Amino acid sequence: MRIGMMNDPRKNACDEARWAAANGLDFLDLTIEGPAAEPDQIDQNELGAICAATGLGIVGHTAWYLPFASPVAAMRQAAVASVAETFELFAQLKARVVNVHMVSCPHLFRHADCLRWNGESFAQLAELAAPYGLRIMVEHPPSTRFSLDDICTILAADPRLGFHLDVGHAHVGRLKLGDVLEQLGPRLLHVHLSDNRGQSDDHLPLGTGTINWSQVIRRLKQSGYDDTFTLEVFSADRDYLLLSAQKVRAWWQAEA
Ligand SMILES: [Zn+2]
Repeated sequence: MRIGMMNDPRKNACDEARWAAANGLDFLDLTIEGPAAEPDQIDQNELGAICAATGLGIVGHTAWYLPFASPVAAMRQAAVASVAETFELFAQLKARVVNVHMVSCPHLFRHADCLRWNGESFAQLAELAAPYGLRIMVEHPPSTRFSLDDICTILAADPRLGFHLDVGHAHVGRLKLGDVLEQLGPRLLHVHLSDNRGQSDDHLPLGTGTINWSQVIRRLKQSGYDDTFTLEVFSADRDYLLLSAQKVRAWWQAEA
């Protein structure tokens, strides 16, 4: 297993990469989004050099607010195009996966259409990503509006789509981790970790909300998943992020 962090999109991505490497993290979950981490704001050569010198890996991440399921087709196309624009950068940085976020529709529209529009957008991206050697992985939101069946319906749009589990989102969305892993474990490509109290996506340090972390890590390890974990702990003081990393490593080690 490898542990990483997401860059704060308000900061310089190269500075964030240096910090991650200097503090013993294995990869940067590189979110390409404003206000300060749009593609033209990132020095690709410098970031590539930092990764090569330190061994820091890159996981691809894109903005959570793109309108993949807008009822307006041109908006959906714009969302797809904006993610496709990141592929060259991610491929250059030797990423293998790029995340996208499923989104809701205005309430007037049928839920089935919302699921279909999400799926169609992500299927297009799976096709566009393939020549770059990248896989698209779909992250579920911190909401009870998407059931596990809904997530499966969206992923059924293209067999190349991977699943991106966010344990904090699952807690807010009342998804049972055992059921999620049973249904989607074989397609799981990446995991986000942060704590909350079950009401909103608070991005707390692990152990300060109401998630049973030793149980979560045990279930993940027992499922056979042994890949990348991003700590999405957004405390201003990053000591809490590093403490969370220590705890994840200890919980992981404690499981046979
Ligand atoms: Zn997440």
